[in-house]
Amino acid sequence: CGIVAYVGERDALPLIIKGLKRLEYRGYDSSGVALLEDAKLNIYKKKGKVSDLEGQLAGKKLTSTIGIGHTRWATHGEPNDVNAHPHFSNNGKLAIIHNGIIENYATIKQNLLKKGHVFHSDTDTEVLIHFIEDIQKEAGGSLEDAVKLALREVVGAYAIVVMSVDHPGQLIAARKGSPLVIGVGENEFFFASDATPIIEYTKDVVYLDDYEVALVRDGKLSIQNLDNTETIPYIQTLEMELET
Ligand code: GLU
Repeated sequence: CGIVAYVGERDALPLIIKGLKRLEYRGYDSSGVALLEDAKLNIYKKKGKVSDLEGQLAGKKLTSTIGIGHTRWATHGEPNDVNAHPHFSNNGKLAIIHNGIIENYATIKQNLLKKGHVFHSDTDTEVLIHFIEDIQKEAGGSLEDAVKLALREVVGAYAIVVMSVDHPGQLIAARKGSPLVIGVGENEFFFASDATPIIEYTKDVVYLDDYEVALVRDGKLSIQNLDNTETIPYIQTLEMELET
């Protein structure tokens, strides 16, 4: 239901937690984050409030300058710790957060099960990240190309952010039907369901359109359509002030 992601030079976790709290008004049943720590992709997630997640993280020393965070409003699979986002790919190298519904997830899941994929949750979202991994394995191209190919097969609505242990400074985001805003800072980028988690850091934002895939790599943002045509990111400056 709510997305917050960050890549840059700051400590990502406190920023993501604060952002998820700003999105709490949207309603949710669980929350979670994925961080890159010592070249490992780690996921922490919990049923309940963002403060319950914070409780689970308290006392741990977690530092990462990249991360993705989510508040979930369950549509496929009951609200519990396992079904909370983020979700891993089969090989554990990719993590995803997702708002929306992948309507044809059952068909995709059947095919992946035949290929030996093991699923841990009942969500449509976990199927999508396994599907992206499988396409990259078969097609052999870049991760962003695999994301585009996967989304061309997907029926439904989504806003997603994907991170990979193999690409420590990179985030890939896409949307169709669910909102996604990108905050453009200096050597840093923010992704969120609406601008409220972003505006205290930057007012320069790009609203992603349906069928667009955003890639942040080496401190640069590029946007392509699902059919690979390049779009020039339209950066607008927000005038809204943050309510405190
Ligand atoms: N369909 C996904 C799930 O049930 C995402 C729900 C959401 O938008 O939070 O896990």
